Amino acid sequence: MIEVRDLHKHFGGFHAVDGASLRIETGSITALIGPNGAGKTTLFNVIAGVHAPTSGTVIMDGEDITGLPPHVLFSKGLLRTFQIAHEFHSMTCRENLMMVPPGQSGESLWNTWFGRKRIADEERALRAKADEVLEFLTIEHLADHPAGKVSGGQKKLLELGRTMMVDAKIVFLDEVGAGVNRTLLNTIGDAIIRLNKERGYTFCVIEHDMDFIARLCDPVIVMAEGRVLAEGTIDQIKANEQVIEAYLGT
Ligand code: ADP
Repeated sequence: MIEVRDLHKHFGGFHAVDGASLRIETGSITALIGPNGAGKTTLFNVIAGVHAPTSGTVIMDGEDITGLPPHVLFSKGLLRTFQIAHEFHSMTCRENLMMVPPGQSGESLWNTWFGRKRIADEERALRAKADEVLEFLTIEHLADHPAGKVSGGQKKLLELGRTMMVDAKIVFLDEVGAGVNRTLLNTIGDAIIRLNKERGYTFCVIEHDMDFIARLCDPVIVMAEGRVLAEGTIDQIKANEQVIEAYLGT
């Protein structure tokens, strides 16, 4: 689904991504791991259109998508999750989901004057969809809670929920497990597996929790110093001496 060819991203003289090449196969849950500073987040940001690459190519389903802005990639079904922005903290979890789909009728001044029925119909449909997503994620009880007041793990579920409000094909998840308790991490893992199996989502996740990776991810791609160091199953990766050395060296 995604092919990255000889990607470079330099910040001044610093090569954060330094010739990375990798593939993310359709239908996989691919893990991207590596020591801190390996360039994982930078690579994510380049693929998702947040940063323009210095050089190299990103292909999605045979199409060159290098350097396309996030909203264009979004319309192609490529999504990168972000933490819920500060300004949306006071909105409820349901409202946070309802505002995801772009181009809603209520955004047009003309419609707010003359298209009230259309806006009301659209809002009803969005609300129903948001409630369905909350139920899928087993957080329907949080529908009317302000998003800023829910726990870190529940926020992660909500981020995942936002990808379900549009037709995502591939989702890039950055550190799903950071600061999340084991029970919620399992719930997040269950949701990812179900989205993968039942809705055909492909995932690429940056994660540090090895149990989580062992349960969900195949293959595992290891980055170090801006490049891909190894790729394989979690057991192959754990036994790889170059990988062990890269982690010990940090
Ligand atoms: P990882 O996600 O693997 O920990 P990052 O991609 O966050 O690695 O960072 C790789 C390196 O690039 C780090 O040394 C970081 O300091 C540097 N870096 C990341 N973003 C920037 C930036 N905007 N400006 C300068 N250096 C950056």
